Formats: sequence, C-alpha cells, structure tokens
Amino acid sequence: MSVRIRAGVFRSIGPSLLLALALIAALPAATPAGFVTGVVADLVPVRVDHHVHLNSPAIRAFLPDFCASVKRYGGCDPHLVAPHSPADLLAAMDRAGIRRSVVLSDAYLAESPLMNPQRPDAAKIVREANDWTVGLARQYPERFSAFIAVDPIRPTALPEISRWRGNSAVAGVKLHLTASGVDLRKDSDVTALAAVFRAASEARFAIVIHMRTMKPDYGAADVQRFISDVLPAAGNTPVQIAHAGGWGGIDKATLSALGAFADAVKADPERFQHVWFDLSGVWNDKSSDADKQALVALIRRIGPQHFLPGSDWPYNGDDLADYYGRVYPELPLTTQEWSIIRSNVAPYAESDWRNPARN
Ligand SMILES: [Zn+2]
Repeated sequence: MSVRIRAGVFRSIGPSLLLALALIAALPAATPAGFVTGVVADLVPVRVDHHVHLNSPAIRAFLPDFCASVKRYGGCDPHLVAPHSPADLLAAMDRAGIRRSVVLSDAYLAESPLMNPQRPDAAKIVREANDWTVGLARQYPERFSAFIAVDPIRPTALPEISRWRGNSAVAGVKLHLTASGVDLRKDSDVTALAAVFRAASEARFAIVIHMRTMKPDYGAADVQRFISDVLPAAGNTPVQIAHAGGWGGIDKATLSALGAFADAVKADPERFQHVWFDLSGVWNDKSSDADKQALVALIRRIGPQHFLPGSDWPYNGDDLADYYGRVYPELPLTTQEWSIIRSNVAPYAESDWRNPARN
C-alpha cells in the first residue's frame, strides 16, 4: 500500500491506479459529461468555499525535507508542492463566482510524526505558517476567512491557540488527525484533543477537523468515541468535519464514519446544531454509483442543511468552476437538496464572524 501525502487528505492508492492516473493526466481534457446546458443553468451558485489550502512560505521551504521523509509512504501529492499564490486562488474563485473561501493553515505539517527526524525549528514553522495565513485574512478581509492550525497532541497546541485569542482575523482552528498521528482509541490522545476543543471554544474559534486517522479499520467506533469524549468540549462552538468524516474519496471507512454520525444525529439532533460536514474531495470521476448512492443516503439521514460546499483546492484540480460546475453535480442529490448545500454558508465563513457587534 502506498499513501500519497497531501495537506488536505491522505489517500491510499495502489501502484496500478497511480499509473492510470498519470496516463489520464497526460490526455487532453475531454468535454465534461455533466456540462449539459440545462444542468448548469439549474445549479445554485456556490458563493463560499469552506475548505481550501494555501501553503505559507514557511511550509513551502519545509516541504522538500517533509516530502523526502514521507517517501516511505508513497511521497507527496504533486499538488502539495505546486507553488500556488493567493492571486492564483483569487483568480480560481473569480472564475467560479466564489466570493469567499475558508483558508486552512497547513502549519500542522511541521510537527507531523511523518517528518522523521523532526526539525528542531518545527514550532517556529508552525507559528510562521499561522502568521502568514492570518495575514491573508487581514489583507483580503472580504475574500478569506483564516484558520490557524495546530497539532493537537503536541505541547505547542494550547499555547498557539492562546497566542491568537482575541484576534479578530482568526475564524478558527484546523486540526488534521492523519497528519498529526492522532489515535482516537488512545486515551491520552482523546484527552489532548478534547483540551484543544475546549481551548478553541473558550477563544470563540470555530473548529475544522480532518478526523480520519491512520487506523486501517477507521470508522464508526472512532466517531462514537469522538462524539462522546471530544465533541462536548466544543460547547456551542461550530465544528466542521472535513471530507464528510473521511480523507477524500468514498470507501467503507468513510461511509462507516459518516453512518455513525447519522445515527447520532437521528438520536439527538439538538446536539448537532453546530456541527457541519464539508463535501471537499469526497467523490470524483472514479467513484462508483453504489458509493455515491450510499453517500447520498447518509446526507439525507443527517439532513442537507448540515453539509457545506468545499473543494480542498488545489487538490482536486485548480479549476473551481469545473469542480463545482461538473464534479459536484455528479453526486445524485435532487435539485432542491443541492440548492440547500450549494447556498449553505457557515457562520464563521462570514466576514463579520469575529466582529464584536455581531457576537
Ligand atoms: Zn483539505
């Protein structure tokens, strides 16, 4: 098994599929099948993208060492190392008619256990990456919401959250359990994660969490532990579960995880009033019809109002117009369900989320 490392998601890709992907990438782009005029005309425009990445200069400088370290897992996704500027993201947003994006710091990569040996200046890279990401929101307050990132099981996590407390340019905290090597079956990790949720909540920061862990049988049991022992620490703080509980793609583990959320929402909907799931990178051109139908069934059980548009840009291609105009409609939801999801905007993605007048 090889796992290609990306900031946003991890995917297990067999060597033959990798070869196939390389061949597909070399072919000229075909006319997108979903781009039938009637279909596109019916689409409610996505105005806010709840999940995008931009590497800070500190992370870009760190990536050669990081990618050398993760060669043993299959290496880095080429999109992780491709140089993308804020101008590139703004241009992609403009082409797709997207007015705002939630930009997630990739700072957690610096302290990842995948980086072996650890860099002595890892904590400094974390701070620099977060400084830069928050600077983006200051520079473009109408276009970007910024999330700082921490590794929840490192001693730097709580001090880094308190460093930003009271800063109105920070919308929230991003956590990436795969990259941080968090194990939801290990008591000390669960305790540390709950402490980070509590600190974020006290600082009035929203939380975006990429929940899927490295456990090969990740799924319902991990989600149940998260719901009972971590989520309560968030209080009324909004929580966004990235990639619909997985790490991109639809497979048994992701469906099991989202299924456990669906059961819990059904049992106690009140508890999930402030919980959303983003749909970034969940299905792609290669997803089977059966998997897409299973995902649709779970979205219906949870309720489309809990789902947010997100792209994981740039990991699913640079072209947000293509992603939201062609790839998104490949999931067979009804026009009505799509309208709800595509126009959904989480409170922390609004420009006045940290405005004291609003709170
Ligand atoms: Zn991501």
